[in-house]
Amino acid sequence: AGRLSGKTALVTAAGQGIGRACAEALAREGASVIATDINDRTLAEIGAIAGITPRKLDVLDAEAVKAAAREVGAVDVLLNCAGFVHHGTILDCDEDAFDFSVNLNVRAMYRMIRAFLPAMLENGGGSVINMASVSGNLKGIPNRFIYGTTKAAVIGLTKSIAADFIRQGIRCNAICPGTVQSPSLDDRINAFDDPVQARKDFIARQPLGRLGTAEEIAAMAVYLAGDESAYTTGQAMIVDGGITI
Ligand code: NAD
Repeated sequence: AGRLSGKTALVTAAGQGIGRACAEALAREGASVIATDINDRTLAEIGAIAGITPRKLDVLDAEAVKAAAREVGAVDVLLNCAGFVHHGTILDCDEDAFDFSVNLNVRAMYRMIRAFLPAMLENGGGSVINMASVSGNLKGIPNRFIYGTTKAAVIGLTKSIAADFIRQGIRCNAICPGTVQSPSLDDRINAFDDPVQARKDFIARQPLGRLGTAEEIAAMAVYLAGDESAYTTGQAMIVDGGITI
């Protein structure tokens, strides 16, 4: 049997990148996974994998999140992966950019957890996993003003939930990845005038000398999802290729 057999998991932003690798890894370990995203094409791809049920869910839509929670009921694992990387300093971040990142990177996690937690509590507990970053809470990174701000908030949110529900079977942890190869990282690199140099620069800031893989982040998600991590809650687990050494 897999390390997660018998468990149900719901993953947001599971269409590509880290979320997708997490959904696949959880399913490989025997969990029954509801993979959600806003992208129909990638949802169809991931829905073809055994153990994965695709479901459209826009985490910016409060009513849709409530409806999903009513429909799905209790899950053992809630993995909040949706997030956006805004490029720039505070001077590049107008009020709209600020609101967008706060809404997607922080408010959507609040909304998801608030919607799904009651059924998890009734069910005796579960594991909530929030995708944070090394950016913000562990390291100030240039041109990551609102990204770092929101990802630091994710750590505070994670610890608060962990503290409030620790005696009710709920664990809540965050994962702090370093730079990870993903479709949106490719987009960020291609947005530079010199993408070849930009990729070199992203790799150079990783002391290990390479980008991380989404699967390396998913391995931590599998650990946090399962009973192996039963004594771990309220933590920010770092998987960063040495960027914070
Ligand atoms: P990505 O950015 O390539 O993919 C993002 C996914 O989110 C897409 O499938 C997209 O359709 C989905 N999405 C966007 N808006 C959504 C919404 N409103 N509701 C539901 N889904 C939505 O993936 P990634 O780069 O692997 O990043 C995933 C998470 O990991 C993010 O929270 C990101 O901040 C975090 N992270 C990434 C890195 C990295 O280097 N890639 C490093 C640290 C943390």
